[in-house]
Amino acid sequence: TKWCYSFRQGEAEGGAALGDVLGSKGAGLAEMARLGLPVPPGFTISSDACRYFHAHSGQMPPGLTEAVDAALAKLAADAGHAFGDPKWPLLVAVRPSGRVSTPGLMGTALNIGLNDQTVTALASTCGDEVFAYDCYRRLVELFCCVALDHEHYEFEEALDKHKEAKGYVRDAELSAADWREVLGIYFEIGKGRFPQDPREQLWAAIRAAFLSWHSPRAQAYRALHDIAEDIGAAVVVQAMVFGNIGGESGAGVAFSRNPATGARELFGEFLPNAQGDDVTSGLRTPWPIRESAIGGKPAAGSLEASLPKAFTELDRCAGCVERHYRDMQNMEFTVEAGRLWMLQTKSGRRTTTAALKIAIDMANEGLIDREAALNRIEPASLDQLLHPTIDPSDRPLVLASGLPASPGAACGEIVFSNRDAESSAALGRKAILVRIETSPDDIAGMHAAEGVLTARGGMTSHAAVVARGMGKPCVTAATGLRIDYEDQSFTVGGRRFVKGDVITVDGSSGKVMAGAVRMLRPALTGEFATLMDWADRVRRLRVRANAETPSDARAALKFGAEGIGLARTEHMFFEGERIVAVREMILADNAAGRRAALAKLLPMQREDFKELFEIMAGLPVTIRLLDPPLHEFLPKTDAELASVAKALGADAAKLNKRAQELAESNPMLGFRGVRLAVAFPEIVDMQARAIFEAAIEAAIETGRATHVEIMVPLVFAKAELDLVKARVEATAKAVELETGIASRYRIGAMIELPRAALLAGEIARSAEFLSFGTNDLTQTTLGISRDDAGAFLRSYVAKGVLPTDPFVTLDVAGVGELIALGCERARQARPDITLGVCGEHGGDPDSIAFFDRIGVDYVSCSPFRAPIARLAAAQTAL
Ligand code: PEP
Ligand code: MG
Repeated sequence: TKWCYSFRQGEAEGGAALGDVLGSKGAGLAEMARLGLPVPPGFTISSDACRYFHAHSGQMPPGLTEAVDAALAKLAADAGHAFGDPKWPLLVAVRPSGRVSTPGLMGTALNIGLNDQTVTALASTCGDEVFAYDCYRRLVELFCCVALDHEHYEFEEALDKHKEAKGYVRDAELSAADWREVLGIYFEIGKGRFPQDPREQLWAAIRAAFLSWHSPRAQAYRALHDIAEDIGAAVVVQAMVFGNIGGESGAGVAFSRNPATGARELFGEFLPNAQGDDVTSGLRTPWPIRESAIGGKPAAGSLEASLPKAFTELDRCAGCVERHYRDMQNMEFTVEAGRLWMLQTKSGRRTTTAALKIAIDMANEGLIDREAALNRIEPASLDQLLHPTIDPSDRPLVLASGLPASPGAACGEIVFSNRDAESSAALGRKAILVRIETSPDDIAGMHAAEGVLTARGGMTSHAAVVARGMGKPCVTAATGLRIDYEDQSFTVGGRRFVKGDVITVDGSSGKVMAGAVRMLRPALTGEFATLMDWADRVRRLRVRANAETPSDARAALKFGAEGIGLARTEHMFFEGERIVAVREMILADNAAGRRAALAKLLPMQREDFKELFEIMAGLPVTIRLLDPPLHEFLPKTDAELASVAKALGADAAKLNKRAQELAESNPMLGFRGVRLAVAFPEIVDMQARAIFEAAIEAAIETGRATHVEIMVPLVFAKAELDLVKARVEATAKAVELETGIASRYRIGAMIELPRAALLAGEIARSAEFLSFGTNDLTQTTLGISRDDAGAFLRSYVAKGVLPTDPFVTLDVAGVGELIALGCERARQARPDITLGVCGEHGGDPDSIAFFDRIGVDYVSCSPFRAPIARLAAAQTAL
């Protein structure tokens, strides 16, 4: 086994390809060394050694001692002096190096090799006693913390006490004698366990680095980021360079491009006269690297102004590593007496805005190709560009966590009713609508509010679906939220909030926060349009939007949807007085009553459809026939009941009885979808007539043919579809007789029930297209109510029963199997059939990859998700 991989400026053993063996730090150093960049010489101990160590209860693997000795000898030759040399000691840093850079790996020790004897040697070779003792006290502190389980505060307190006693403010005021005194206290804190033997120090530090792999912090980080536990940490042993050796020295971090904006400029911070973690510790305010990066605030200085040679060299190195890795790099460096040394490079974290700009810029610069640029952007992250987001520098009080039902952040005063949401909006005030759950009655309030918070409901509950369609932030199923409508208050985590108190909801993370949290505005840049254009060129899968209102339809076009894949007609009734007419229709106890209500709805529907057709200008518009889960539409309050009674000319008490008769215990499995059409075909007649008349009018007005698709929901048998089809055909004939214009349309079915998926072949004989309604199909396949799943699904995911919420990412194993089978059978029966997906999964990147694989023709999702779907479709096509 090869245990040690040496590197020095100009040459290195191993490199990026050995990432698992060398860890990210070791691999980065090897690459930089090979590029000829100024890297202090050193060697990396393979992560195999760490694995052996943990597998053999803390024993070092045989052969490691010899390998380290050989590597130290080589290092001595490269550095020009030897580790442990009492006259001119070589000091080393020991750093753990994980495969993925892990903040929890805290086992870094610096200045190893110093002891009571070598510290004086260092002082005399450098001619700087204060510096030598500063290094020594850092070693003792780091060593005690890393290898002897002490805490930094113990040392910081001791130092502060000494400074106070002496009347010092800054560390720089301490003399060598002061440091010697402080060191004495440090040794006492370490209970005399600090070893004087440099080799003993080195091996203890290596052991500590191995052990840090299993520190709780590192484990938590790995769990959070899905990093394998069994890789182990490599350990980098490297010659020290000193950023604390006076004015021309310091330590810094740099990014090859601006990680917030993506601008092509060297960006970062530099702390003069500092070592190691001083830069990020926040003890002193670092300088910006560049003059121009200071912004409005005057800074004490900058690397560029103070150490121009080191700055130019850093700029050159940054360009070099960026070109080499073809990605924005995050680097650590030290300047020792005016000379730059590179200590680490890794791909840098960045905001979505920056990621987008960097990917497009790099493609335009020829650094990467367009495919790579497309793959650099996480589709779901595009959400951040379309909605306001929480400013990460704010630290709000989090009250509760719920499901991230609709992305974006919003703040406003708490309201508990539609009326209050609307009156707040009318006064120009922002409101958050807080409900136990929402129903169609709440549409107006949801519109008026900035955001929505519910105590119940899953990812495809009413609140979630409607808010997402509106592009409004929404958190559902907030844990521990107890709402008291009567008292106009809620309690959460022992705190009480009343109407008018301000809260913030973040529908991207599911968090609910107290007060008005600072936000960042969305900005759609030219890079966004470019990325979408590139995505559109490579994807096979078409993208439509779920939209029914004119504003949804316009948003759909703006976000590049290629048609409407689902217009939920019952949503068109949510607004204003219409819901009364719908209730009238539902509650009518005979056909005549129903017809009277339908006659009121016809002109409204016609106008709505016409507007949709006009906006979509020739693109396909799929109108789904009425699918109202009854419980969403039945009147709930006395006032609601009274207004329906008035419209129907009926007795309120009788009507109430009828409403109670209609109430269902399983509304999602109840009298909805095509079942309504089978029982009350006059509803189909009205809707078909409204569609055809609207299509004719729109075609005449715009001079463009309309592309009408009529979709029948919740079928499980071909016979259901045939019944509806006959009524639609008859209506088309009637309209043709009246107008002299033949209607062109396609008719299809939604596949939302397991039986429909199994019988898709047969259903396809009567359908020109099929659209998988994966919300209901998930609900009915798993037997999990989409409205009530929030309460227990989290436990299912936490305990690994399900990998993710199946209402968010398609359950490929179960629901996916049904869809694949349905597609296959449908195509067999009708090879030219169009196959779509219009459940919420149509906007989920992982689900989209599956739909692309099985050859679905299009996905349809809420307008705000269309860009995500376009990019995801492009990525799966690459
Ligand atoms: C579905 O069930 O997937 C669907 C799109 O219909 P809805 O969400 O309106 O039930
Ligand atoms: Mg459905």
